[in-house]
Amino acid sequence: MQKLTSKSGLLIVLSGPSGVGKGTVCAAFRKRKTDLIYSISATTREPRPNEVDGVHYFFKGRDDFKAMIEGDELLEWAEYMGNYYGTPRAFVEETLSAGKDVILEIEVQGALQIKRKFPNGVFIFLAPPSMQELQQRISGRGTETTEVMAGRLSVAEQEMNLIDRYDYAVVNDEVERACDRILSIVQAEHCRVERLLDQ
Ligand code: 5GP
Repeated sequence: MQKLTSKSGLLIVLSGPSGVGKGTVCAAFRKRKTDLIYSISATTREPRPNEVDGVHYFFKGRDDFKAMIEGDELLEWAEYMGNYYGTPRAFVEETLSAGKDVILEIEVQGALQIKRKFPNGVFIFLAPPSMQELQQRISGRGTETTEVMAGRLSVAEQEMNLIDRYDYAVVNDEVERACDRILSIVQAEHCRVERLLDQ
């Protein structure tokens, strides 16, 4: 009998509308599953006060970011609220080839680009318990101006409509419960026969 181990790691894409709590759930999930490798994105957004270059993001000027796009250094990229965000390609490809699982925490346009390139990825849509709750979360964040918040809300409403492109939907009613569900998904995906026999 063939040995039942998968050579390549899982590409886990955690996505969903702005304000749903992707960052919080992703951080809690990484604490729970410490062998998971987090892909640090590049962005042209200004760092927030607590953010560190190379830890939260690779903060780039617009010209540097454009050079990354032109050099095909990004697996996906998207413009979101006037800034660019993208996933550095080499790190993700090398980590997956080394048999390690990688998690991307990205917005919806980028997730759909990844799906075209990595149909075997695991695409998880983090959903709010209700639209009302999502509105409250966006307006309660308090780090942005009113204009930015209104923009995020309208983008979030459009993003909710793309839920049917995903493999799984996880409601973020409570962070640890959302993590439980994501852990179950990841464990089940590791047991899929086609992954185990796809050598
Ligand atoms: P924030 O500015 O709040 O850190 O992030 C704004 C949005 O960009 C969030 O929805 C976040 O998930 C998304 N994002 C972060 N990194 C990436 C990335 O590499 N690619 C894409 N497409 N979106 C990203």
